[in-house]
Formats: sequence, structure tokens, C-alpha cells
Amino acid sequence: AWERCLGIIRDNVNWRTYQTWFEPIKAVALNQSVLTLQVPSQFFYEWLEEHYVELLGKTIKRVLGKEGRLEYRILMESSSSQRNPASIHMPASTYNRPPKDNNYVDMPLKWDDPTSIKTPYAIPGLKRMQIDPQLNANYTFENYVEGDCNRVARSAGIHVAQKPGATAFNPLVVFGGVGWGKTHLVQAIGNEVRRLHPNKAVLYVSAEKFINQFIDHSKNNEVNDFIHFYQLIDVLILDDIHLFVPATKSQDVFFGIFNHLHQSGKQIILTSDTPPKDLEGMQERLLSRFRWGLNADIQAPDFETRQSILRMKMRQEGLEIPDEVVKYIAYNVQTNVRELEGAVIALFAQATLNKKEIDIDLAKRVMKNFVKTAAKELTIENIQKMVCDYFHLPYDRLLAKTRKREVVQARQITMYLAKKFTKSSLKNIGEHFGGFDHTTVIHSCQTVENLMDTDGEYKEHLLELQQKVQLASL
Ligand code: ADP
Ligand code: MG
Repeated sequence: AWERCLGIIRDNVNWRTYQTWFEPIKAVALNQSVLTLQVPSQFFYEWLEEHYVELLGKTIKRVLGKEGRLEYRILMESSSSQRNPASIHMPASTYNRPPKDNNYVDMPLKWDDPTSIKTPYAIPGLKRMQIDPQLNANYTFENYVEGDCNRVARSAGIHVAQKPGATAFNPLVVFGGVGWGKTHLVQAIGNEVRRLHPNKAVLYVSAEKFINQFIDHSKNNEVNDFIHFYQLIDVLILDDIHLFVPATKSQDVFFGIFNHLHQSGKQIILTSDTPPKDLEGMQERLLSRFRWGLNADIQAPDFETRQSILRMKMRQEGLEIPDEVVKYIAYNVQTNVRELEGAVIALFAQATLNKKEIDIDLAKRVMKNFVKTAAKELTIENIQKMVCDYFHLPYDRLLAKTRKREVVQARQITMYLAKKFTKSSLKNIGEHFGGFDHTTVIHSCQTVENLMDTDGEYKEHLLELQQKVQLASL
């Protein structure tokens, strides 16, 4: 019977459509007037129902008579984690469906209304839509270290994962520099949504892939398929949207998808390496939509966070690295978490290959290949800069001949550290401060030592600063 149906269908659609949507269908049973068809996926089923319901209805009546009915069996498309051979039966829908609206922006999707899909033999736990979310299971909140640099973005992410689409954070736009943890965070959100809401269709996609898919579909005149697919998503995670500049056409198509999803209460999560307001070449209508939700920035990981990340990565890898080495790496690799990881791996590799303990000497040698600043000779200028950094003091203030307390103190400390950590003469140190003589330098060092003995808080600051200088000198 299905063969006869196919004959009729072949005469009524173009060859390409036939090949794409009808050839993959298998007739699996004919029970009186009910023909059961097996289709490859839920998406496939939805698509058939959306586009060819009338053709199928008419055909089946012609072949099987007035009572003729269709039933679908869906071969589950399983995502990477579970290969599930289960099948599910779906009744073919009736013909009194609302007319199709070709304006994709406002097209109501029938699965917005869960009752519109009847699943008489639904197997519990089976998902409505099987889309591979393209998530990396290793990116979780559990192994995403919280720090000052990412606290807001992280907690916003947790909030969104709990109630996707139902918080004020829609869209959630995460922005920050390369290697600062944007992708990890948004993937963690995706994984968490999957855990908490297994029925939600989550999709992670990089803007680059989105653009390439879009271009491919445009070439083949299949933009509608493309849009349709994206409209099925409950939680869309689009990574690196700065790549949409200057892809104007992609911006257009994304604008439509954004509107559709947002209007249907679906969650949109975006990342960018540029603050949205600085995204020159991004259409204003998109930028204004990005402001509808929450823009959360991630900063470069601070020293503390870098240490925590290192410790966590080492725990994960089962590595033991002395504290001193952890600090050394965290101090010297400042820009990028990916490089921190790289440093640990390189260190581990060297230690294994050379059958050596991981110690500070090995770290120094390995790190030389990693960061130019590592293992450098300390100069008085280096120390001056570190002290300025520490006290948030402009460099020229430190050099000014003033009796302002905070400057005097910073100057004394710098002299003390310079004497301790460089081979410079007292005279030379004095000259670096615009011409103090060596007695001033001696006096400064004594003052610092006295204060250390008497003032606990002062001592703590000094030790912290000293540790930074020490690390930089290793
Ligand atoms: P971005 O997308 O911002 O360029 P990624 O998310 O790819 O950065 O992060 C780079 C690497 O650093 C990843 O391997 C990620 O797991 C790790 N990473 C970044 N931030 C953290 C963090 N806070 N805790 C743990 N790992 C992190
Ligand atoms: Mg990224």
C-alpha cells in the first residue's frame, strides 16, 4: 500500500522533496485501515506534519479508502550519550489545522502547546524532540571555579538554568576576553538545563557554525528549513556573537529567530568577546534586544581565582604540585585560563618524561616557554611598578618628592624590597627615586623593619607584597 502511496506522492512533489522527506520513510505495518510509517526522527515527523499533512491525508484516503489513517513510529535519534532504540507511536494529525503562516517571525509552533502532540503510547522519559545539544559534558558548574571575576555571570547562569526562559535574564549575554571562561559558563548552563529539565531542547552552537550553516542552507534554497530548525529550540546558546560582524545576512536571520524564540518564552544565551555596546557593525535592532535581558561581564581571572582553577585542574588530573609551584604558575600566567591549563599539562609532561619531581626549578624551565616575563631579572623599576599596582598608586606619584603619608610609606617599602631583591647599591636605589641619598634609603629600610615588628596589619600587607615580588623573581 505504501508503494502505491509513494507513487502518488512522487507525482505531486518535486524530486528533491521526495528524496528528502519521503524516501526515508518505511512502512512497518498495515492493520486494517491503519498504515504505520516509521520516520527517522521526531523532527522529521513534525516536519511532515507541518508541510505535507494534506498530501499524505489525501493519498492515504485514495489508497486505503475513506477509513484510511496514518500512524507514525519514530525511530529515536539518540544524542551521543544514549543510544536508545526505543520507538514511539504518533497519530497522524487531523486536517483542521490552522493555515500555515509563512512569516517565520510570528509563526506559531504547534509544540508550544504540548497537548497538540498526542502520544498515546508514549514511553515515559522519552523526549519530545531529539536534537543533539552539542554540549561538552565536561563543562559544568561544578568545575567552574567561582571568583570575583565571574561571580555575577555565574550566578545569573545558575538562575537561568533553573528557570530557562522564565527569568528577567533573557537574553543572557556573557561577555569577556578570550580564555576567560565564557564558553565553559554557557555550556555549564546548557548541561544544567538538561539535568534539571530533560524535556527542554537545548542547543549550543558557535556563531561561526551558525553562519556556515546559514550560508549552506542559502545556497541550497533551504533557509526556511534552517529557520524552522532553530525555532524548535527551547534554550539556544549562541557562542561568540561578535563573529556576526560584519555578516549582515546572518544578523538578519538571527534577528528573526531571536524574535520568535523570545516571544515564545524560550531562553537565549549569547557570548561575545566585546561588550555589546562596542560591537560596531552589529545592527542596532539586535543590540537593543541584547539589552532586554542581562549583560554580565567576566573579567580576567584574578590571582586567587587562577590558583583555585589550577588546584581544581590538578585534582581532576590527579596531579600533585607543590603549593609554591601553583603560586608561581598562577602568578606568571595571567592572561588566559587556557594557558594556565597548558602550563600544568606541559609541566606534567616534562615531569613524566624526565622522571622528575615537579618542583619550582622544573616549573621555571617549563614556564620559560610559556611566558616571556617568567624568570626575569628583577629591576628597581619592576618593584616600583609592583608596589604602585599593589597600592593603586600612579607611578609618577611614587617618584614625586612629597611628604604625603601614603607616598612616603610606599616609597619606603619599595626601597626596602629593592634592597632585598636586587643587587643594586643603596646609592643606585636612592637615585631611582629622583635623587635621595643612601642614608635615606637606610633609614627607610629601618622604618619598614620597625613597623613590621609593631604593626600586624602593616606586616601582613608587606608579606603579601613581598610574596608577589618573590614570585616574580623566581
Ligand atoms: P572563552 O570562551 O571565554 O574564550 P573558555 O570558556 O573556553 O574561554 O575557557 C578556557 C578554558 O579555561 C576552558 O578549558 C575552561 O574550562 C577553563 N576555565 C575558564 N574559566 C574557568 C573557571 N572559572 N573555572 C574553571 N575552568 C575555567
Ligand atoms: Mg569561547
